Amino acid sequence: MPKSYGRHYVAIPGPSVLPDRVIQAMMRPAPNIYSTRLADLVDGILADLRNVARTHHNCCIYIANGHGAWEAALANLFSQGDRILVLSTGIFAQGWGGFATAMGIEVDEVSFGKCSDVDAGVVYDRLSQDREHTYSAVLVVHTDTSTSVRNNIPLIRKALDEAGHPALLAVDCIASLACDRFEMDAWGVDVMVAASQKGLMTPPGLGFLFFNERAREAGMSAGLRTPYWDWERRIDPDEFYLLFCGTAPTHHIYALREALDMLIYEEGLDAALARHARIAAAGWAAVEAWSQCGELCLNVEDAGKRSHAVTTIRASRKDGSRIRDWVEEHSGVTLGIGLGMAAPPELTSSQYFRLGHMGHINDQMMMGLLGSIECACDALGIERGAGALGAAAATLAGGRSG
Ligand SMILES: *Cc1c(COP(=O)(O)O)cnc(C)c1O
Repeated sequence: MPKSYGRHYVAIPGPSVLPDRVIQAMMRPAPNIYSTRLADLVDGILADLRNVARTHHNCCIYIANGHGAWEAALANLFSQGDRILVLSTGIFAQGWGGFATAMGIEVDEVSFGKCSDVDAGVVYDRLSQDREHTYSAVLVVHTDTSTSVRNNIPLIRKALDEAGHPALLAVDCIASLACDRFEMDAWGVDVMVAASQKGLMTPPGLGFLFFNERAREAGMSAGLRTPYWDWERRIDPDEFYLLFCGTAPTHHIYALREALDMLIYEEGLDAALARHARIAAAGWAAVEAWSQCGELCLNVEDAGKRSHAVTTIRASRKDGSRIRDWVEEHSGVTLGIGLGMAAPPELTSSQYFRLGHMGHINDQMMMGLLGSIECACDALGIERGAGALGAAAATLAGGRSG
């Protein structure tokens, strides 16, 4: 049980830490949903969301979590019997593909395992072999939150282009938006899904769907489209209520406005991305020091393929859970559970744990996180290399002067 003194840090990869200002922005009575003030607020939010996604194209906001945004994308793009290629680097791509299968879409999944990113050469081969262009789309997750693998989206785009394949490129940025650089238009991404509760520092409850005109055109004949998910009804509607297909998520709107102000107009998106990179690198430096002896190590070997928002750490068989339990009880920190890492028949992923470092986080939070794990390892007698905290501190200091 978490102790009730001090501020508890829930360092899981979503929902992320809520800034007090975001919480306070929600502490108000219900507004008049027919006032133009609310409509203007949403117009500004849509413009700023496009700004964060680096796109000039369309954005719809659904009252939904990330799974809702997944379904929204599928419903607007496909018909039963359509064929898609899913590139999997962890459980989230499998989850999105699983939704597609359940909706009657034919899914070919290519798995790249749990420690490596998508091999663009394999994508090129698959698409080159598809001479009839039977694949309508390629689905991929930018950062897979279970493995902490970050995929190279421009390389995947290049594979599609070099294969001369017209499939749409759809990317899940739920764990990466506002944490890792993402350039929807410059990278040639046709569809992108995101959600409020990770890099965007807002409570769970809003799903975002971005799509360009190519995707919109391709989706015109989508047989899976239903009224609630239909993006056509939500783009530039005559009446405000149609934007959300009903009552607007009033308090989430206030929260998101505050979070976007902090992100875009106070810190600045580039500075926020640099902060995530620096804090992630401090965590990696510590785990690399630990991994010099004993079994603690990073799940992703190549630093260029690691997420800046979440870090998956492997321990010996039961140590992942032991460390998590210890820091939760004694240090006031909750770490993320291992997710989808264990092979059946073992049901839990107790060998793994994850550090969530997305959104409203700073250097001392990462240092506290790492220090707490160091304490847990001391208390539990877990063998590891020395110098982890010093390595993290040096990384943070170097990240400042550079
Ligand atoms: C969190 C997450 C999801 C699922 O989002 P929910 O809001 O829990 O439905 C999907 N994909 C990725 C990459 C995620 O990190």
